[in-house]
Amino acid sequence: MTPMVKADQVCKNFGALKVLKGISLEIGRGQVLCLVGPSGSGKSTFLRCINHLEQVNAGRLYVDGELVGYSERNGKLYELHPRAAAKQRRDIGMVFQHFNLFPHRTALENIIEAPTQVKRLSKKKAVERGRELLAQVGLSEKADAYPAQLSGGQQQRVAIARALAMDPKLMLFDEPTSALDPELVGEVLTVMKDLAAGGMTMVVVTHEMGFAREVADQLVFMDAGVVVESGEPRELLANPQHDRTKAFLSKLL
Ligand code: ADP
Ligand code: MG
Repeated sequence: MTPMVKADQVCKNFGALKVLKGISLEIGRGQVLCLVGPSGSGKSTFLRCINHLEQVNAGRLYVDGELVGYSERNGKLYELHPRAAAKQRRDIGMVFQHFNLFPHRTALENIIEAPTQVKRLSKKKAVERGRELLAQVGLSEKADAYPAQLSGGQQQRVAIARALAMDPKLMLFDEPTSALDPELVGEVLTVMKDLAAGGMTMVVVTHEMGFAREVADQLVFMDAGVVVESGEPRELLANPQHDRTKAFLSKLL
């Protein structure tokens, strides 16, 4: 079966700065990959490439068997038309460190925005689905609350529900709990754990090694734009092979 994500020697530069220097990995359907590494190692950039927020400069990146951002004819790459890129992107949900909810919309309004505007779902259907999703993230009571009236953990759960409202086949999480007070981290991780148990394919950038150990199928350690090592999480955490991985993990644990 084609993997959900396949990166083959993916490179990304910003001018002279080489940020991704040949990333290769695969994520099977229904699998969870946790991506860890020091600040500046290129983790966010890699997620942004998957989600069409950045265009790769070399190598190939595929989501669900489709080349991301380009079409290929006779071995040559052509940039995708923005409309075709937007279509690919619709199937990918992303959750950011800082929630990025619309401040002047309620929780429910945040969730129905994309389905009604982008997918042209009727308001009635979108609201129905929105309420289901609020229930899924444990926030049925907060449909009419504005972001400022919610805790950080609640806002992040709304952000997850909002991403799910587009029925994504892949969910990307960029340090989803890093901005939260420690006592609010658990409620967000629980929602993510449930999502994984339900079969969602997920790429999670996180420093939560407990989550990685418990939920991830694959742990990838990145440093300075390369994959230093990867493997089954328990195995890698118990027995890191490279000095850079050891040094990084010793600072976390
Ligand atoms: P991480 O998420 O692992 O902390 P990032 O992917 O955010 O790392 O950043 C990797 C490197 O790329 C950093 O040196 C950062 O400054 C640089 N970078 C990221 N985005 C841009 C951009 N749009 N323009 C220039 N440099 C960038
Ligand atoms: Mg980052």
